[in-house]
Amino acid sequence: MGSYEVPFTLPPPSYPSNCLKFLEALERSSVYESGAKCMVPLNIILVGAGLGGLATAIALTQNGHRVTIYEQTPVLGEVGAGIQIPSNSTRLLFRLGLKPYLAPYVTEPERISFRRWQDGRVIGNTELVPDFIENYQAPYYVIHRAHFHSALCERARDMGIEIKLGAKAFDYDPVAGSITLADGTVHTADLVVAADGIRSVARKVVLDGHEMPFHKPGFAAYRATVDVDRMRSDPEVSWILEKPSLNIWIGDGRHVMTYTIGAGTAFNMVLSHPDTSDPSTWDPERAVEDMRKEFQDWDPVLTKLINMVEKTMKWPLMTVSPLNRWVSGKLLILGDAAHAMLPYMSQGAAMAVEDGVGLARALSKMTSPDQLSDCLKIFERVRCIRSNQMQEASLLNGRLWHFPDGPLQQARDAAMEREVKGVPFVHSPNQWSDPATQMWCYGYDTEGEIDKAWEMAEPKKLMSFL
Ligand SMILES: Cc1cc2nc3c(=O)[nH]c(=O)nc-3n(C[C@H](O)[C@H](O)[C@H](O)COP(=O)(O)OP(=O)(O)OC[C@H]3O[C@@H](n4cnc5c(N)ncnc54)[C@H](O)[C@@H]3O)c2cc1C
Repeated sequence: MGSYEVPFTLPPPSYPSNCLKFLEALERSSVYESGAKCMVPLNIILVGAGLGGLATAIALTQNGHRVTIYEQTPVLGEVGAGIQIPSNSTRLLFRLGLKPYLAPYVTEPERISFRRWQDGRVIGNTELVPDFIENYQAPYYVIHRAHFHSALCERARDMGIEIKLGAKAFDYDPVAGSITLADGTVHTADLVVAADGIRSVARKVVLDGHEMPFHKPGFAAYRATVDVDRMRSDPEVSWILEKPSLNIWIGDGRHVMTYTIGAGTAFNMVLSHPDTSDPSTWDPERAVEDMRKEFQDWDPVLTKLINMVEKTMKWPLMTVSPLNRWVSGKLLILGDAAHAMLPYMSQGAAMAVEDGVGLARALSKMTSPDQLSDCLKIFERVRCIRSNQMQEASLLNGRLWHFPDGPLQQARDAAMEREVKGVPFVHSPNQWSDPATQMWCYGYDTEGEIDKAWEMAEPKKLMSFL
């Protein structure tokens, strides 16, 4: 029998189809196994050592660039408790060598259960294990933010990435490719990447001085943890800890997301509710009491959990308006600086990880230094589309989950019945389960999209030389 060569050049179908997805997986693994490096190594300044900045620095360094991070805080760390690392992010983090760094700290939930606000009845269900590993070749994790951050820091340090602390970027020069620190020193590089968070200073520079104000879509979240020993001693709530799962209670204008973190040693809660008040008027002393009032008529199991919370932090939920510009000269923004979103798809940091890997891929196309601007444009185009859509999906969850009881809520719950019963379905208002949304969200091929955009741009670039 003659051998058959894999036809990587099969043209993608013009209709919506995932029938060629298997080829992407083949191609990706061969690229990573080869340990390919970029052809034009750059000196890169990266501002901000948050989750997005660190992941980006690791991706760029892995590809052969020299990265120096400037972080304003004198001590590295992350505030808040739990964070989800969805499969589209773990797949990339593993390629960046993070698997052993994350392993001691992660919990892998078996499923996501949507529960009715009033009585906790399961109304929606997404099987994460084994479905997400089988379908997206990567687990879905939850973790304490501090552990996620320290895993990234350790990996960065092991790769020799220098992190300068107490170094606040005060101004940017996109033409020179430089930053001015608060102490007046100027630092220049081939490229400046600003991952400086939602209150980004760099964003205003990229937008030619026009500040794109961040929005408050009218929600705030209480973030809290519950002592698991206390939960275990109460039979009415201890069942929640038996198997690692995400449980989310949804109701009129509010929802509560819960899961165990710290490899089962802590129970994390995020309680979202409507709030348009000015955060400067919030009294931290009253936060626990206010939180209990917000959810007082909800499922007795949930209120019991809420009553076990001893301290909480109230957090304004803010977004950045969808942008179509992230680049100016030798300066670019990414992460929350470019696309802060409602946390309702649990994808904010995951988008920043994709940004970092996407940027490394775009820069790997350079065969000469004068192609920098072309590469950055490709990166910008691809990542704006992806993150703007994720902002939209996050906002939509806020609407789908928050219906008041009535015809819309009943229709939504009826449409999720098939997934609860475990029978096949082709659409669902649960965006973790809806087959089309799930494939787009978790099956997204960050590097493949950059490759495609580069190939499509190539003829245009050639034309411009004629
Ligand atoms: C309640 C809540 C729940 C969430 N849950 C999830 C989830 O489950 N999954 C998920 O993927 N995402 C989640 N997110 C989103 C996620 O937390 C963010 O998207 C992510 O942390 C953004 O990372 P970043 O590095 O872009 O920005 P930041 O984390 O804001 O980091 C910015 C860094 O830049 C530094 N910096 C700022 N300005 C300067 C300067 N001028 N000079 C030097 N340094 C500077 C800051 O000190 C900071 O270290 C959630 C968000 C919230 C609010």
